[in-house]
Formats: sequence, structure tokens, C-alpha cells
Amino acid sequence: MFRNFKMVSRVVFGRGSFNQLDEILAAERVNSETVMVFMIDDVFKNSPLGSRIPVKAHDLLLWVNVDDEPKTVYVDELTRRVQNEMESAADALPGGIIGIGGGSTMDLAKAVALMLTNPGSSADYQGWDLIQQPAVYHAGVPTLSGTGSEVSRTTVLTGPDKKLGLNSDYTTFDQLVLDPELLSGAPADQYFFTGMDCYIHCIESLTGTYLNTFSQTYGEKALELCREVFLGDPSDRDDKLMMASYCGGMSIVYSQVGICHALSYGLAYILGLHHGIGNCVAFDYLEDYYPEGVREFRQMMSRHHIVLPRNLMADVNETQLEKMIDVALVLEPLWENALGVNWKQIMTRAKIKELYQRM
Ligand code: NAD
Ligand code: ZN
Repeated sequence: MFRNFKMVSRVVFGRGSFNQLDEILAAERVNSETVMVFMIDDVFKNSPLGSRIPVKAHDLLLWVNVDDEPKTVYVDELTRRVQNEMESAADALPGGIIGIGGGSTMDLAKAVALMLTNPGSSADYQGWDLIQQPAVYHAGVPTLSGTGSEVSRTTVLTGPDKKLGLNSDYTTFDQLVLDPELLSGAPADQYFFTGMDCYIHCIESLTGTYLNTFSQTYGEKALELCREVFLGDPSDRDDKLMMASYCGGMSIVYSQVGICHALSYGLAYILGLHHGIGNCVAFDYLEDYYPEGVREFRQMMSRHHIVLPRNLMADVNETQLEKMIDVALVLEPLWENALGVNWKQIMTRAKIKELYQRM
């Protein structure tokens, strides 16, 4: 059976395209009282971008904080804030949720859009295809590129007992505004770590057992763009990274990521290590599994003067280490993609432990 997956319905790309957001949303406003909810990374408070949000009188502007990556409790809290606001509005639901920021903010927006129409806590839906009801209209505006969250059918959340996405066809954005100008202020290290997320998506997808021509086509293009951005010096690097992220995301939609991502989820769960940097830490120890990718990744790191944190396990106790292994092992499709159907015979708890202990 072939998967019939949902793609983003509409995409606008180009420098300055953010200026079209107002017009794009106008088509989604049923009447003058329709509420649009803008969820924007609070790093943009008092920044030029912060003052360019096309907010109308009835709209809600929510500054979101992503010092910690998205948690289910935070999603539930934001959902309640929107619901409270809607009590005094003409309609029961907002006309749309617009997430403006990096992968974390986009994931928060996707999750709130889902939780407005699905009862209970977002933690109840961590897994694959547990969401039953369509989300409210949601649009994504990336200000960092690499995660592929803009095209993916998941929103990655840390819950009470696992870090796992709400994977569903309803999760995918309805609209994207891809404006490379929005990447310009990103700190160099963060730009690199998020960019490497895309590079690692490509390596894991292209070397995986789930690979097919659809994924390969997008993965190869994304990889080529990552190489231009991180090993060359193109004048349009932000445009290129934005499209690399898009294509890298498209590649994994129809395949999967692999070992690096599984280990990175464990690092995030116990140490709170953010996704991009966690991937870089883990990838550096995976030469046995991704030899060429790891070599090229090291070239990119040295070119960009990146120093990774080391000795991360110094304060991790045995119980925490076991939990990290549990978190990594939940992600069965990732292991199967990387190592094949008999992955359990290759990747034992002891082997995962040894990898973590080296980090
Ligand atoms: P992020 O959104 O966590 O942001 C990282 C930091 O950069 C934050 O401090 C943020 O405030 C800041 N920032 C963002 N844009 C900026 C800009 N233009 N200028 C200055 N500062 C800026 O980073 P990310 O790497 O894009 O996202 C990581 C998150 O994405 C993780 O939570 C991860 O789980 C998730 N993710 C989701 C998917 C998916 O398919 N849904 C895939 C991969 C990763
Ligand atoms: Zn990733």
C-alpha cells in the first residue's frame, strides 16, 4: 500500500514575500470579525519584523517563547489562551493560526491549530495518526531554515514521558510564506545547527532502507544546496538554505530520518539539548553508520568554526541514561529506516548506551 500523504496546499517564495501575508490571510477571513492568531517567536519583540505583523483589530498576537523546545504543557496552555480569547468572539474558532519563527514556533502553531479541534491534551496525540479532527487553517513563516517543519506532517513535542510528534495529515500547514530575508538576523551558530538538521535529514534519508525515487529526488537537491551553503560562499545562501530545508523536508516525508535523530531525541529529553545542536553532537559519533556524511559534516564544522559541547554524560546517572535509551528506542521507524527490518538484532540497548557514553 502506498502512502497518500498530504502536502502543503499553498506556497509563496521570494525576498519580500512576507509583505503579502496580509493579502493571503484576507482570503481566509470570513468576515470583518474573523480572528487570526499570530504566534511569533518572542525574539522578534521590538524588532522590525515584530512591527510588520499584519494584525487587525480582532486578531490575537501571541509572543511565544522557545528557550525550551515545545512541550505538550505549553501547547495546552497556549490553546487555552486562544480558547479564552474566543469566548468573547463572534465565532467559536479562529480563522487561522500563523506561526512565525523557527522550527519550534512553527511546531507550536501547528500543535495549537490541531488542539483547538481535538479534545484533551496534546500529550494524548503523541504518535502516528491519532489526531481525528481536521485542524483550523494554519500557516507557517520560517525565520530559520533546516528543520523542514514547514513541509512536514508532524509537530515535535516533549510530553510527560516521551519526545514524539503529533504525526498526521492534519498537521501539515495549509500555507507557507518563504521569505529568505527573514533569515538575515539569525545568529551564526544557530544558523549552522539548524542548517545541519537539513544536511542530516538528507544523509539519513538518502542512505535509508525506505528510500524511493520521490525521496531521493528531493534529498539529492537538498544535499547539493547544503553543500553550496556550507562549503561554498554563495551570495544567495539564505534563499538556497530555505529551499534546501523545504526539499529536505519533502525527502523525509516519504522516507524517514535515522539513527542520529533517534539519539538526538534522547539527548533532548534528558539534557534539554536543542534539536539542531543535539543532532550535530550525535552525528559526530556515527562514522560507522554514515561514513561519508560524517566526514563532510566535519569539514563543514571546521569551515564555520563550530565547537561542539563534549562530555555530556558527566552528570547523567544510570536511570537517566536508561530513559534516554527508552526515548530513542520508541522511534522504531527511524531505526528500521536506518538498519532494515532486522534492526533490533543490530542496535541493542547496550550498543545505544555505548554510543551515548561516548558523547
Ligand atoms: P528554534 O525554532 O528552536 O529557534 C532556535 C533559536 O533561534 C531560538 O532562540 C529562537 O528564538 C531563535 N531564532 C529563530 N529565528 C531567528 C532569527 N531569524 N533571528 C534570530 N534568532 C532567531 O530552532 P530550529 O532549529 O528552527 O527548530 C528546532 C525545533 O524544530 C525543535 O523543537 C525540533 O524538535 C523541531 N523540529 C521539527 C520538525 C518537524 O518536522 N516538525 C523537524 C525537525 C525539527
Ligand atoms: Zn531534524
